[in-house]
Amino acid sequence: MSETTAEEELPQSLVTDCETSLVDGEGKNSLSLSCLHCDCLLLRPNIALFKSLPEMLLRRDGERSEVEVLSDFWMVTDMFQFENMAFSKNVEDVKYLACAECDIGPIGWHNLCDQKCYVALNRIKHH
Ligand SMILES: [Zn+2]
Repeated sequence: MSETTAEEELPQSLVTDCETSLVDGEGKNSLSLSCLHCDCLLLRPNIALFKSLPEMLLRRDGERSEVEVLSDFWMVTDMFQFENMAFSKNVEDVKYLACAECDIGPIGWHNLCDQKCYVALNRIKHH
């Protein structure tokens, strides 16, 4: 396999850079999560747990098949904890998450097997 260089070129995680501001002492989000495009509030602070997953592939948008490698996620165990979130139709074992206001997505996915939601840190805004 010749994929080692791709790994090395990945930017260091957002959390490494601003760990103190994004993750609180319990590993939860210290800031609100909102939409990159319309500022819609998606999740209030202290709900999601930070998870670093082995490189996950997530489409950049609904039309192109281009995928982005992501590894930093907020895990939400109950989909009803979101303030605003749109869910796609079932795609195999997941539903994709999108902003409920502007429909920009996918910003993460909902796993139908364990009911957990994962939101990519790179696809949302913290404030
Ligand atoms: Zn939005």
